Amino acid sequence: MPNIGHGGRGVHMNKLRRIVFNVALYITIVGIIAIVLFLMILFVMKLNVSALSGGSDKPICVVIDPGHGGEDGGAVSESGIVEKNINLSISMCLKDYFEMSGIDVIMTRADDRLLGEGSTVGEKLHNDFPKRLELYNSSDADFVVSIHQNKFTSPEEHGAQVFYGPADIGSERLARCIKRSLNGLLQPDNEREITKAGSNIYLLNNCANPCVLVECGFLSNPKEAQQLDTYEYQRQMAFSIYCGAMEYISNSKADTASPAKNSLHVITDH
Ligand SMILES: [Zn+2]
Repeated sequence: MPNIGHGGRGVHMNKLRRIVFNVALYITIVGIIAIVLFLMILFVMKLNVSALSGGSDKPICVVIDPGHGGEDGGAVSESGIVEKNINLSISMCLKDYFEMSGIDVIMTRADDRLLGEGSTVGEKLHNDFPKRLELYNSSDADFVVSIHQNKFTSPEEHGAQVFYGPADIGSERLARCIKRSLNGLLQPDNEREITKAGSNIYLLNNCANPCVLVECGFLSNPKEAQQLDTYEYQRQMAFSIYCGAMEYISNSKADTASPAKNSLHVITDH
């Protein structure tokens, strides 16, 4: 009998080997492509992140300052929403986004407290700003983002506003990037222009690094206060600020300053 059976099994084995070989080849090619793509993404991220430090290997470092804390609650809404808690929540989200991008973060506080020490609340408050300013002016920091909530006598006022420090030209560019991102991602109708910090905003006025203060919204507006009190909106707010900051990092030659228009002068709680 011709050995049909064995010959048939041989053909099957050859086919099987070919299939196994093709699958292995396919997996190898896909694997190589995935690794190359991953390395390219890492390279692009590294380029972005090192843009501010002139291409050096030093990672970008951001100071995030959740305003107030501890005995100093900041502004309070009519329904009892306290500013310090919203500031901290938005700041912690912001910290996550930056760290996911390989950016170092210095938090002025990561829990509910004042930085100043003392035996009385007055002493703690008195010693708080110098401690924060020390971190603002940290030599490692590339820029500072301070998070606050606004309050005004009229309950109609609403929308975020970005203030910037006068010392470094980068402050205004950073503010403009964050403002643009807030408009694009969260508040398309917000016409509040970026504003140079008045002398009443001590930290911004005494900060040598590029620095901004984002008043995320008005606790005096019941609707906006309620919105600011939700974790979902806090994350959206943090993401918008993060995207603006990333644009600032990526494009160190960002737009040059133009005079602020339609500036609505608001009272800040600092
Ligand atoms: Zn505040």
